Amino acid sequence: MTLFQPSPLFIGGKPTPTADEFAVHDPATGVEIARVSDADESHAAAAADTAAEALPDWAATPPRRRAEILAATRELMIARAGELAELISRESGKAAADARAEVSYAAEFFRWFAEEAVRPDGRFETSPDGRSTTVVTAQPVGVALLITPWNFPAAMITRKVAPALAAGCTAVLKPAAETPLTALAIRDLLVEAGAPQDVLTVLPSTRADAISRVLLAHDAVRKLSFTGSTGVGRHLLGLAAGRVVNSSMELGGNAPFVVCADADIDAAVQGALIAKLRNAGQACTAANRFLVHEDVADEFAESFADAVARLRVGPAAEPGTDIGPLIDDRAVRRVAGLVADAVERGARIVREPVEVPATGSFAAPVVLAGVPDDAAVLHEEIFGPVAPIRTWSGTDELVAVANATEYGLAGYVYAGDTGRALEIGRRVQCGMVGVNRGVVSDPSAPFGGMKQSGLGREGAQEGIRAFQETQFLSLG
Ligand code: NAD
Repeated sequence: MTLFQPSPLFIGGKPTPTADEFAVHDPATGVEIARVSDADESHAAAAADTAAEALPDWAATPPRRRAEILAATRELMIARAGELAELISRESGKAAADARAEVSYAAEFFRWFAEEAVRPDGRFETSPDGRSTTVVTAQPVGVALLITPWNFPAAMITRKVAPALAAGCTAVLKPAAETPLTALAIRDLLVEAGAPQDVLTVLPSTRADAISRVLLAHDAVRKLSFTGSTGVGRHLLGLAAGRVVNSSMELGGNAPFVVCADADIDAAVQGALIAKLRNAGQACTAANRFLVHEDVADEFAESFADAVARLRVGPAAEPGTDIGPLIDDRAVRRVAGLVADAVERGARIVREPVEVPATGSFAAPVVLAGVPDDAAVLHEEIFGPVAPIRTWSGTDELVAVANATEYGLAGYVYAGDTGRALEIGRRVQCGMVGVNRGVVSDPSAPFGGMKQSGLGREGAQEGIRAFQETQFLSLG
């Protein structure tokens, strides 16, 4: 297998022709790097039929065997980590170090869920009146439709595929049209590791809406697991409601990054670099609003801007690159618009932006100080390397500002007094809070958001439960 040669569309283990193909581009150069089969509605229907036919055998496959296949997939991902990282960089633009980190993180979901596959969750107990025995079992929910974004082309896939297969579900995966190559490579590795061809069908497509409608209308599809923007998630929830399809949603974020007056500023800056600039700021968990106590705001802004000025922006392939391009030119224009709006409303750019290559979809990181509350950058998901700083003086004010958003995915709190950091963490309405840490993603911990950032959790025990149905048997 050559990872750079996308396999054709496989449905039921057979190569399946498509009328159209679409191009995948390298965001660092704009150059076409591959052409991929473009699945349509007929392929979606065939993929759902295939998954439905494969379901009974896969659900009946001993959990230990399913676990072995998942564990072997992880081994293959690690053995081919260099190639996978290069593929991620080529199609998403991600800097080499970020891409390597993503492969390790993504592979870890196969290990975690291989382990979860053999720990069935159930109960067996005498009922309170002593007249019956209660048996509670977890069963695979059925065929799962998995839809993923481009910003983590491997991890967003393994975070769904591994628990779905561990639970005994079969699945149809629709990766983002920007980054289908990593999805196809992971599917090839899964089959190489011993998975039957028909337990996972990957449907690269430019017709996301049309094929999702077909799949969500299919009788066998009982689960929708979506990661992407809140707008598309809301739309898909509406479609899923038509057949009351069990739905998990991992949606957008607007993470507050809180720095208290007693915080270790050097540590906060290090955390801010990761929380803000991993993947050029294109992460749902990316710090979106820096809420810094007024006593340390200047010190934090200066040292953060100094650290940012030392970073190199360039193509992933170039040695020394810290920050790669954004996904496309539209993203660059959107981010520039947010900076211009903030400056127009009175914000200050702390240091002149570093140079970026003239061609490709590059954006220089920018730290903005004194950002007023009406600036769009404090309310929209930035999805780029812009760090707006807003100051505060009292804890109640801080909490009110942090929670003044429809989102509630990740948050970060830096404080010298851990008790105080935990208190603020508890009051911030976010599904995940990094306390004196700029990273919250961990396959063994529940990942997900409150409010309009989503429904349900991925990873941890919760991740496999999302692909299971609970059944109660009452024994007389
Ligand atoms: P997006 O919502 O535009 O697309 C996500 C996926 O949905 C893609 O596969 C896309 O093709 C598909 N899609 C788009 N329109 C559709 C439709 N009408 N019907 C069915 N499918 C459709 O998001 P994106 O730009 O790819 O990714 C960025 C977004 O994802 C950000 O909002 C980010 O916060 C979010 N995200 C969330 C998490 C999380 O875990 N909460 C993780 C990563 C990204």
